Amino acid sequence: MIKVYKYRIYPNKIQIQSISQTIRLCQQLYNSALEHRIYLYKHCGISITFYNQSAELPEIKKVLQEYKTVNAQVLQDVLRRLDKSYQNFFRRLKAGEKAGFPRFQSYKRYNSFTYPQSGFSLSGTHLQLSKIGNIKVKLHRPVEGKTKTCTIIRKNDKYYVCFSCEAEPQAIPLTYQDIGIDMGIKEFCITSDGELMPNPKNYRKSEDKLKKQQRAVSRKKKGSNRRKKAVAILANTHEHITNQRKDNAHKVANNLLNKYDTICREDLQINNMVKNHRLAKSISDAGWGIFFDILDTKAKQTLGKRVIKVDPKYTSQICSNCGQIVKKSLSVRTHKCECGLEIDRDINAAINILHKGLATL
Ligand SMILES: [Zn+2]
Repeated sequence: MIKVYKYRIYPNKIQIQSISQTIRLCQQLYNSALEHRIYLYKHCGISITFYNQSAELPEIKKVLQEYKTVNAQVLQDVLRRLDKSYQNFFRRLKAGEKAGFPRFQSYKRYNSFTYPQSGFSLSGTHLQLSKIGNIKVKLHRPVEGKTKTCTIIRKNDKYYVCFSCEAEPQAIPLTYQDIGIDMGIKEFCITSDGELMPNPKNYRKSEDKLKKQQRAVSRKKKGSNRRKKAVAILANTHEHITNQRKDNAHKVANNLLNKYDTICREDLQINNMVKNHRLAKSISDAGWGIFFDILDTKAKQTLGKRVIKVDPKYTSQICSNCGQIVKKSLSVRTHKCECGLEIDRDINAAINILHKGLATL
């Protein structure tokens, strides 16, 4: 099982230059290797592989001395990335899916490089990178498992390291309890036991900031430096909000998995809903998609835990006590049924989601 850990790193000026240079050389290598493949195929009908191309690396270094400043395995990984995109292309083609031919990469798009085995080490608060140096890293949580690869990423003028690690499936004690969850708008979600999970803290504040910055961008002239600056500020806020959502999603998912073994949730085709539904804004804002991904992945990685997706149809209308349909508009917050049941509409929905999920087992 592979787990990924991402941390912010703080390279100094010289290290930033060195990282930028590495990314640029990797991007150029990627494009030339792609060009070479296309050329050989077109003119000689030859298909070359990762092994053919990586065997040429020593020769390239002799001619283009600057490639000596990049770790050899990092360069090999560039060729492996290209090989992978070729393999993906052929796999999709074979499966009759829509397949895009491997593309040339711009410097803007190509924003990372990977040490696939060695050339990096982490000790305390510093990350040692071969050919680059000793960089300060903010380890907000420990790396667990055996580290396999180390990727350096540049994004919005910030730098990150991603470790992919081989980890044993996590052991969280089984509780033999099941739960249904209904995603909310004011609250993040509510459980069939009536527990409220709030939205991320300060979330509204960031959202207001985002709106102001979006307006600032649209007021500035296209192509101007002032607009570029405003776009950079906006990108930062976007990133901050995504991090807030992820943080909250991890918290809620951990909370649920600690307390329950089976978690039933709505199977929402987020993209469709965002397009059609009048709740669109809140849905995308609340980051449900991010949460579902995190919850599903964590459950898969934990022994004895599972997520069941159910069709959300009628879950808010059916009476969780007697099964009768009680029609109500969105503004009606309480479910009141002839059978005597009177509860919060969202808790009623969460109970229905739980019942529907368990019924599929
Ligand atoms: Zn009823």
